[in-house]
Amino acid sequence: MPPLKPPVRYQDLADPQAQPRHTGIPTFFRTPHTEALDQVDIGVIGVPFDGGVTHRSGARHGPRAVRVQSALLRRYNGVTGVAPFASARVRDLGDCWIEFPYQLEAALDEIAGFYRSVVEAGVVPLSVGGDHSISLPILRAVAAAGPVGMVHIDAHSDTGDDYMGSRFHHGAPFRRAVEAGLLDPARVVQIGIRGTTNDPDMWGFSRSSGMRVIGMDEFDDMGWRAAAAEAVRVVGDGPVYLSYDIDSLDPAEAPGTGTPEAGGITMREALRLLRALRGVDFVGADLVEVAPSFDVGDITAFNGASVLFEELCLLAEARAARDAG
Ligand code: MN
Ligand code: MN
Repeated sequence: MPPLKPPVRYQDLADPQAQPRHTGIPTFFRTPHTEALDQVDIGVIGVPFDGGVTHRSGARHGPRAVRVQSALLRRYNGVTGVAPFASARVRDLGDCWIEFPYQLEAALDEIAGFYRSVVEAGVVPLSVGGDHSISLPILRAVAAAGPVGMVHIDAHSDTGDDYMGSRFHHGAPFRRAVEAGLLDPARVVQIGIRGTTNDPDMWGFSRSSGMRVIGMDEFDDMGWRAAAAEAVRVVGDGPVYLSYDIDSLDPAEAPGTGTPEAGGITMREALRLLRALRGVDFVGADLVEVAPSFDVGDITAFNGASVLFEELCLLAEARAARDAG
């Protein structure tokens, strides 16, 4: 069946990514929506779940806000020249919505099941949360064959333990992931960590397990270039997951998040840092904790979409390198 609105004059506009950016139903980067996994190389997936939040909720609305803002991103990376949509079939797989949202561990099991289907189909997942608790079930699928390394950019280490009777809230996923053999802590680097804590050793597990923690002051002193070089050294040659918590950014550039911390990474530093990670064998990535109800002028969702595009470029390059190798 021919399209209802065929382009008469500009044939390029048959490509939804070339159509005017204020038109169409918003998908991630204006990519086609599909659930046919055999037609997808990189799947962008919303996980509208914030049942792991300990304080200010609202990240469940993150995927929709990032979808809308991602219409501002175009087809080529203007700095690196990477063309993720040309080298891979990038599709919006829709949302991993939750049938049992009021039962945290059951909800995480649902997410893990969804991602097992995605990963077993050979699709590289790029996810938009949702709070940071979703990274644990995603890792259950991505690291099913063995522990992976991780580049984790966040104001918080998220290696906490029990909080009010739960060990699966958004401040603990990476401790659980190490315990479950999903992460190799010797190949994990955490960047941007800062802020006050309730316990002087709140993130002690990061260091005791052997993760490399680059706190915000050290990042400030060493700069994005040296931090990226250290990250590349730590994660080494094997498969690596990339987890980006939007609260790593300074609250001036990312007010729309549940747990802001003063004195964060600038968007300029974040973009340089991410681009300097080219060459790492990334097998999946996420962007979490965008909470639009706290946002101002959509700046957080827009910066989140911009981070997501750099993550997509890293995944596309790594996938192409695996294919070539
Ligand atoms: Mn986090
Ligand atoms: Mn955080």
